[in-house]
Amino acid sequence: MAEAPVFDTVAIVGLGLIGSSIARAARVFGAARRIVALDASPQALARVRELGIADEASGDYETLRSADFVVFCVPVGASGAVACDIAPYLKPGAIVSDVGSVKGAVVAQAAPHLPAGVHFIPAHPIAGTEFSGPDAGFATLFENRWCILTPPDGADDAALGRLVAFWRRIGARVEVMSAEHHDRVLTLTSHLPHLIAYTIVGTADDFGDETRSEVIKFSASGFRDFTRIAASDPTMWRDIFLHNRDAVLEMLARFNADLASLQGMIEKGDGDGLFEFFTRTRAIRRSIVEQGQDTAAADFGRGGDKA
Ligand code: NAP
Repeated sequence: MAEAPVFDTVAIVGLGLIGSSIARAARVFGAARRIVALDASPQALARVRELGIADEASGDYETLRSADFVVFCVPVGASGAVACDIAPYLKPGAIVSDVGSVKGAVVAQAAPHLPAGVHFIPAHPIAGTEFSGPDAGFATLFENRWCILTPPDGADDAALGRLVAFWRRIGARVEVMSAEHHDRVLTLTSHLPHLIAYTIVGTADDFGDETRSEVIKFSASGFRDFTRIAASDPTMWRDIFLHNRDAVLEMLARFNADLASLQGMIEKGDGDGLFEFFTRTRAIRRSIVEQGQDTAAADFGRGGDKA
C-alpha cells in the first residue's frame, strides 16, 4: 500500500529549477496530495500548466490559504519581498520554508514578515544544475543529496519532523544545523569554488581571440569543468555573494593566503611541498566518492553542480 502523503496541500512559490523539481518529486514520490504553483511570471505559469507538474498554477496568492506547507524557491535577494507578499495568506499552523543557498540572510529578510502562527524552518537542498526555469527541473534531482534544515531556536518539533519527512520522501538525506554554521560550510564547499570558476573563465575570456579559441579547443584538460560551474545563473550567484558577504570574504582571505603559499613553493622549486599538498587534496576527492556524493567515473563533475 502506498504511504500517505506527508502534506495535504503543498504550495511552491517560484517554479524555476528547484521549485519545479520539488513539484515533480512531490508528485512522483507521493509527498503531497495536491500541489499548487505560484509564480509572478505568467510565462512560467503557462509553462507549468503545459508541463502538468502542478494541480493548480496561479498568480493569485489566495491559493495559499489552503496550503499546509509553503516553500518559496526564489533568488536569495527576493526572499524578503516574497515573504511580505505571502504573509497575509498563510494558514495558521502552516509550515513555511525556502531553498536558498544562503540561510542567515534569508532568515533576516523573511522572518520579520511572517505571522506568529506559522512555523518558519529554512532549508537548502544541496542539489542543482547550471540550468534555470521550469523546464530544467526533474523529479530525481534530490535523490541521495543532502538537504540542510536550519530551524530557529525553539522551532516546533512536530513541524520540523514533517519537513524532514517531506525531504526524505522526495529522496534527500537530511541534516540539521544552525543557519550560521550552514553559511560557513557552504562558503567553502560551494560559494568559493564558484567564485574561483568565475575568475578562471573570466580570465580566459579576457585574452585575445586567438588564445580564447585555443582555450576552448583544448578545454578538456580541466577548463571545461570550470566553465560548467561558471555558467550558473547570474542572478542566483550575485545574490549569494551579496548575502553571504562576511563568510565569503573570510574564506577568500584564507584562500588567498593558501594560493600565495603555493606560489611560493613554485617560486622556490619546493617539489616536496607541492607533492605533499596535492597528495592531501587527492584524499578529499576519494572521501567524496566513498560517501556517494559523486562517482569515480573519469568525467569529473558531469553529474550536476550542487549549490
Ligand atoms: P531559477 O530556475 O532561476 O528560478 C527562480 C524562480 O524565482 C523563478 O520562478 C523566478 O521567476 C522567480 N523569481 C526571480 N526573481 C524573483 C523575484 N524578485 N520575486 C519573485 N520571484 C522571483 O532558480 P533556481 O535555481 O530554482 O534557484 C532558486 C533558489 O534555489 C535560489 O535561492 C538558489 O539559491 C537556490 N538553490 C539553487 C540551486 C541550483 O543549483 N540552481 C541549488 C540549491 C539551491 P521568473 O521566471 O519570473 O524570473
